[in-house]
Amino acid sequence: MSPNESCAHIDAIDTVKREKRHVCEECVKICDEWIHLRTCQTCGVTLCCDSSPNRHATQHAQSSGHPVVASAEPGERWLYCYPDDAFAEY
Ligand SMILES: [Zn+2]
Ligand SMILES: [Zn+2]
Ligand SMILES: [Zn+2]
Repeated sequence: MSPNESCAHIDAIDTVKREKRHVCEECVKICDEWIHLRTCQTCGVTLCCDSSPNRHATQHAQSSGHPVVASAEPGERWLYCYPDDAFAEY
């Protein structure tokens, strides 16, 4: 599958979950900082991206098996699926 094509996980999403608060829910617990935020489309948790020191979104995807995140950055409207390395704008 090409990296720019969406996958069954992304196709299954009707309504994109947006962040509840604009913070990484794990970084705030340890008083650390983040760069960008991603919202898990399975459970709705908002966590930090791979440019952030703790990479909580990737850790969450690997430990929970939740495949798809959405960007939680203002003005960004895209989804990413970890297992398929698929990216889609919406
Ligand atoms: Zn997928
Ligand atoms: Zn974090
Ligand atoms: Zn999740």
